[in-house]
Amino acid sequence: MAVRRTSAKASQEPVLLSIVVPMYNEEGGVGLFFDRLEPVLQAITEDYEIICVDDGSSDGTYDKLLEHRTRDGRIKVINLSRNFGKDTALSAGLDHAFGRAVVPIDADLQDPPELIADMMEKWREGFEVVYARRADRASDTATKRVTANWFYRIYNAIADIDIPQNAGDFRLLDQRVIAALRNLPERNRFMKGLFAWVGYKQASVEYIREERAHGETKWKYWQLWNFALDGITGSSTFPLRVWTYFGLAVFVFAVIYAIILSIDVLIHGVDVPGYASTMVAVLFLGGINILATGIIGEYLGRIFTEVRSRPLYLVREMHGIEHRIY
Ligand code: UDP
Ligand code: MG
Repeated sequence: MAVRRTSAKASQEPVLLSIVVPMYNEEGGVGLFFDRLEPVLQAITEDYEIICVDDGSSDGTYDKLLEHRTRDGRIKVINLSRNFGKDTALSAGLDHAFGRAVVPIDADLQDPPELIADMMEKWREGFEVVYARRADRASDTATKRVTANWFYRIYNAIADIDIPQNAGDFRLLDQRVIAALRNLPERNRFMKGLFAWVGYKQASVEYIREERAHGETKWKYWQLWNFALDGITGSSTFPLRVWTYFGLAVFVFAVIYAIILSIDVLIHGVDVPGYASTMVAVLFLGGINILATGIIGEYLGRIFTEVRSRPLYLVREMHGIEHRIY
């Protein structure tokens, strides 16, 4: 067993590079992943750790990870109590990553590990966030490409701080940035939004997103929709506030229309037909009202989650990590 770094060293002196990998049912891909990642890291430094967060997998992912850990002690494992979702798993990993530079990466090799070398170079030049920007989205389906595009457009139009187009969670973060993220109290961990919010000196590197090396994507469209809602409601109150102006506009219109109608009645007398226009007004206002209430509900539900302030995730077991957050 080649455990290279003692735990004493880990708590005194941070490693140079922490890699954080959320994993959910990746049993078949774990081996491939390490085979490709490790030589890349070796070429950069000996002083690294790979923090694998098993997000409540129901297959053999966890056992596979422990097996790999006996081979190399720099592979560390956090086992969550159930499936919490990618962003939360990523948060769990980042909470325990104390490297001077930290790189979250997907386990399916869609984020090419070779890029980490370029990111480290930028980091050494003084950038604190180096995100990987997808040069194209050829590996995604047409629907996903179109919906993703809409999402970025809408998000950037209304959110307070823009997120870079076509950049995922694959990026290098300085420990300073990680510390800032750790201090953000919210339960809604839309990581792309949080990464953008914290700011810091940013640079980007380009890459071609590959096909999944093994298994299939865990996202369903309904989840993506909810993810998008989380993203927008987590970063902007515009959808809530817009109704003030809309309501005001309708009110002004109603007053003017009422005056016109009154004058009309005074001049031409009472005009009974008017069913169509009445129905249109009733349905339109009713619909808008329900929509506005629904949007308030979206926020209210999220406020409820925040207020309840449960821990973000629960750790079942940790291997190779001393700093316990929860
Ligand atoms: N993942 C996770 N928890 C989940 C779903 C996914 O930790 O509930 C991990 C997954 O194992 C992978 C990464 O998140 O390492 C990205 O997932 P996926 O490839 O399914 O997403 P996509 O690349 O399609 O956006
Ligand atoms: Mg993937």
